[in-house]
This record gives sequence, structure tokens and C-alpha cells, in this order.
Amino acid sequence: MLVRWKPSRAVPVAALALLFIIAFVHSRLRNGKVSARVDKPSSSSSSSSSSSSAVTGARGQRSVRLEDVFIAVKTTRHFHRNRLALLLDTWISKTKEHTYIFTDSTDKEIRSRGFNIIVTSCSPEHTREALSCKMAAEYNHFMASDKQWLCHVDDDNYLNPGALLSLLSEFSLDRDVYVGKPSLDRPIKAQEQLPNNKTRDVQFWFATGGAGFCLNRKLAEKMAPWASGSRLEHTSDVIRLPDDCVIGFIVERRLGVSMIHSDLFHSHLENLLLLTPAQIFKQVTLSYGLFENKMNSVGLKGGFSKEEDPSRFKTLHCFLYPLTSWCPRT
Ligand code: UDP
Ligand code: MN
Repeated sequence: MLVRWKPSRAVPVAALALLFIIAFVHSRLRNGKVSARVDKPSSSSSSSSSSSSAVTGARGQRSVRLEDVFIAVKTTRHFHRNRLALLLDTWISKTKEHTYIFTDSTDKEIRSRGFNIIVTSCSPEHTREALSCKMAAEYNHFMASDKQWLCHVDDDNYLNPGALLSLLSEFSLDRDVYVGKPSLDRPIKAQEQLPNNKTRDVQFWFATGGAGFCLNRKLAEKMAPWASGSRLEHTSDVIRLPDDCVIGFIVERRLGVSMIHSDLFHSHLENLLLLTPAQIFKQVTLSYGLFENKMNSVGLKGGFSKEEDPSRFKTLHCFLYPLTSWCPRT
């Protein structure tokens, strides 16, 4: 029998219902309640803007918020006054609740101001063992937290929270992420110690700790067999390299995951004067320090004199947060 299709009132109603369902699913996807993203950002994410207030990221998933990030700052008692204090007054004042200061000596003054200070039992020295001990503490505290991202910085880094959140928001949720900047233009070579006094040559990229780097939880969990408890220090013994190299070794050689190279992270091992002011405001991290007996810092004019602000961190902070009470009024 031939059935003739008859237009009926049910058709527009069904079409409307279908449209409604499509619109509903679409809005759920945009709000990140259904995660169905598979696309990957390129490592040229250096063009990120510094907005942190959007609900969804550029690729439609929920933006990373400050409370998703465990920011670990490595310091030592010797630098509490002449390095850390500057960070507490500038960028850490904006990220206080989510920033954890890893050091080797109690500091009642810093604690009384409400900062999260974690006094490790690590030695205060600048040795491979001491540095790996602090990195192990950072990893273990992050794993015990409910945060999605671990970002490490040194006590001579300025971290721009808005730029950080923009960058992290670009990564697909289903990707393993280890992002930072290498200090070398080639992979580092190491000798992995094997049983019976044997060794094996290995090469891998690592993100220099002096420029800061981030790992997501998905990847950090996979690192546990070589990083949890005291394992990170043991892995450091296996390659005889310090903390930041150990992270690169575990990620690239043990897990086969490639580091994501980003130009948004900066240590004082590079010429910071090469950054233009427009670029400076968009960087995730900056640094300062002596290079060949001269101060290497970003070339940002205004705000404070070079004598008042040799790192230029105060000047940068006042550009980013001009309403800060101690910033000069223009
Ligand atoms: N650091 C430390 N103990 C020391 C010297 C440095 O824990 O005796 C820490 C310091 O607080 C910083 C990092 O190690 O977070 C790097 O130190 P620095 O900037 O002096 O050296 P770099 O490796 O950048 O040349
Ligand atoms: Mn340094």
C-alpha cells in the first residue's frame, strides 16, 4: 500500500521541539556542563589576551578560574625579605588564597598576614637534592589538593594571573599538559642510571623552573609512579639532575608526553629588555636578576624609578592594577 505523506499540525510542533533540544544541548556544551571537546591548541598560544572574567574559554569550554590553580612559589629563608616580600605586595596579593609558598624556615610575620606558607623539611641550600626535595613537596601538596592545575614559579618571578588563566583556558580538557619554556635551544642530555651500574643516554625537553611552568592534574596523576611521596627525589638521583629537569624527564621519557613550548614564560637567563611594553602585559611570567653583573629586567618606564623598583615588578603591577593603594596616581 502506498502511504501518502500528509502535512499535519504535528510537523511544525516536532520541528520546534527539535530546535529546542538542539538549543538546549548547545547551551549546556557552552557552559562546560557536558565536556565534548577534542580540539587541541597549538603551542603558539602566546597571543592569549589577559581576560580572566569570561565564563567560557575561546574554544567553548569553561574558563579556568583562579581557584582551579595551585600556584607554588619556591623560596628559602634567606630570600623571605629581599625577594618574597615584593611578590607578596604585588601579584600574590591578587592570588593569595591559591598561592602556596614552599620554604625551609618558619616565618610568623608572613603567616600572620594570612599567606599559605608551607615549611618543608628540605635543606635551604641550592643543591640538586634540596631543590628536588622542594619540588617533591610542591607535587605532593598539589596532589592532596582539589585543584586542577599545578603552576610552579621561583621567588624572582612575576606571575600575571589574567594571562595565566587565559593560557590554561585554551587547553582541551582531555589533553595532558606540561607547558613552559626551555632554557636551552635543544633537549637536555642525561645519563639514566640503570641496575648493575649500567647507564643509558637519554634526551628530553624540560621547562626551566626559573621561568615557571604548569602541569594539569590528568598528567600529574600519571606521573605518580615517579613523583609521589619521595619518588621524585629518587628520580632525581636516577638522572643526577635537579627538580625542573626531573619533571621533564618523567613527562617526556617515562610517559612519552611532549612538553608544550610557550613564549609566555620568562626567566632572567634571557634578555628581558627585548620585550615591548605591549608584550610585557600579556606574558604569563617575567623575572629579573643579575646577568653578567648587570640588572636584567623588563624595560617598563613610568611608575617607579629604577632605584625604587629595580625588578620593574612594582611598575608592572601598577599598570595591571592601577587602583592598588600604593600605586602612584597619575
Ligand atoms: N633557592 C633556594 N636555596 C638557595 C638559593 C636559591 O631554595 O640557596 C631558590 C630560590 O628561592 C629560587 C630558586 O631557588 O626560588 C632559584 O634561585 P636563584 O634565582 O637564586 O638562582 P637561579 O637558578 O635562577 O640562577
Ligand atoms: Mn633566578
